[in-house]
Amino acid sequence: MEKDIYDFIIVGAGSAGSVLASRLTEKSKWRVLLLEAGAASHPYSRFPISFGLLIDHPTANWRYSSQPEEGTANRRIPVPRGRLLGGSSSINGLVFVRGQPLDYDTWGQLGNRGWSFDDVLPFFQKMEHYEHGEDDLRSQGGPLRVSKATDEGPLYDAIKAASKELGIPHNPDYNGKSQEGIVRTQTTISNGVRMSTARCYLNPVKNRPNLRIETNAHVQKLLFEGKKCSGVHFRKNEQDRFVHAHKEVIVCTGGVASPQLLELSGIGQAQLLTDNRIEVKHELNGVGEHLRDHINARIQFNMKRGELSYNQRMQGLGPVWQVMKYIFQRRGFMTLPSAPMLAFLRTREDMETPDIQMHMVPYAVKNPKKRQLHKFPGMTVSIYQLRPESLGSIHIQSPDASDQPAINFNFLTDPIDRDAMIAGFKKIREIMNTKAMRDIRGEEFSPGIEVKTDDEILSFIRNTAETAYHPIGTCRMGNGPESVVNERLKVHGLEGLRVADGSIMPTMVSGNTNAACIMIGEKASEMIKQDNPA
Ligand SMILES: Cc1cc2nc3c(=O)[nH]c(=O)nc-3n(C[C@H](O)[C@H](O)[C@H](O)COP(=O)(O)OP(=O)(O)OC[C@H]3O[C@@H](n4cnc5c(N)ncnc54)[C@H](O)[C@@H]3O)c2cc1C
Repeated sequence: MEKDIYDFIIVGAGSAGSVLASRLTEKSKWRVLLLEAGAASHPYSRFPISFGLLIDHPTANWRYSSQPEEGTANRRIPVPRGRLLGGSSSINGLVFVRGQPLDYDTWGQLGNRGWSFDDVLPFFQKMEHYEHGEDDLRSQGGPLRVSKATDEGPLYDAIKAASKELGIPHNPDYNGKSQEGIVRTQTTISNGVRMSTARCYLNPVKNRPNLRIETNAHVQKLLFEGKKCSGVHFRKNEQDRFVHAHKEVIVCTGGVASPQLLELSGIGQAQLLTDNRIEVKHELNGVGEHLRDHINARIQFNMKRGELSYNQRMQGLGPVWQVMKYIFQRRGFMTLPSAPMLAFLRTREDMETPDIQMHMVPYAVKNPKKRQLHKFPGMTVSIYQLRPESLGSIHIQSPDASDQPAINFNFLTDPIDRDAMIAGFKKIREIMNTKAMRDIRGEEFSPGIEVKTDDEILSFIRNTAETAYHPIGTCRMGNGPESVVNERLKVHGLEGLRVADGSIMPTMVSGNTNAACIMIGEKASEMIKQDNPA
């Protein structure tokens, strides 16, 4: 047993936690401990294509899975989360989306002062170095390099032509004034290298004398003196260690593990804690509730022009060629984000802003969990509803920190979600039926055109859709009885404890969640500095 005292202890070195470690240690007199359950790095992580290689990796990934649910054909849906420095930003699909101003204005309107779009914009600007210039909304000089996907060729030209055919206006920056359009993806990739928060925020500061980073340090529970969180108990190399914080403990373990850690520490629903043989320290009914995620359905097509698909280009000596292309040009398969093109569209003309997002992928996979490529040339377009209404939960199933929590998505339980997914599915077909796309694509092989009616489409989605890896809301920010943290991210009713990561989002942002999690890390750092003046 060892006793150590810090000013701040940050639990979880993911998208948000790494930002906090970097920003809080700017104050040289603060001693900060960053605890991460995973390893320091994985050799694949720097290459963007690691998205496919680490998606089910036994050490760099927690590899959770959901509970079987009737609404998704009683399947256990894989729930990958990064387990290494950088967290999920070290294994994710590298797509960079801020979301819509409306998302943050909604957070503000729900009673979270300081979180409307005008309030969070400075943190989005502070985080980024947008390689394509700056204006009122975009910035340069921040730690996170953001650039447009570099893969080029007739497939993308055809998608752009399809967009024109459908009269969809060109949008030069979906993270700017408007999100709507069929667009080239902005990515957390620079010169062919993944821009994780480990690389952009931690690497430059890891030698600061006031920062200690402990990897392979699995936090088991939070420690309390009365209602004050005083430290944490973690396990490393099969040894139990106890560390203490003068000022605060900040939980940044993400949408799945943050509610789990609170519950393991006795914070949550009294009955559930008692059922799991955990002493109730502080009753808080919202812990683990209000889970939202994007359910993601895929349509796959054969390609008439096989050379446009990476399924064909990765045959034979293809991989060798792609490695050479990476080494000499920093281009090609190894630099692909999860999708080089996106679409943000409205399923109904009367809507103010897009309600669906598509990912357009230049290959087809047999098994989304393993990302194995088909041998024949194909492409994939996937779809999710941007702001899902279905609410699920994540709760512990035992008092043991190494047991997986039970993830119940309740996907598609809200009719709004079902309608948007069906309409989005049809929208994909509309795009793929333009002349521009018919010239290059072959048949729709999954699900196939025989799946036509709304019921058939919904049934296909129920049987095949996966998560888009964006679980949020399980330590929801707000001031009502069902919220977990207040607008300064302090856990209600306790002292010295904040949660700062994807779990605090009160509603889903319209897009992939990494940028919003980094923003949360930036904003939390600023609030902690304000609340702890010199
Ligand atoms: C496969 C995949 C693809 C994705 N693709 C994209 C994308 O293309 N674009 C995008 O914007 N978003 C994407 N996302 C989502 C995005 O990456 C996440 O929303 C974001 O990284 C979450 O940040 P976070 O800080 O909430 O948690 P995380 O980044 O997940 O960090 C949590 C950290 O806490 C650690 N931890 C957990 N429990 C403990 C414990 N008990 N003790 C110590 N440490 C612990 C974890 O190991 C991890 O390092 C993807 C996610 C995944 C998994």
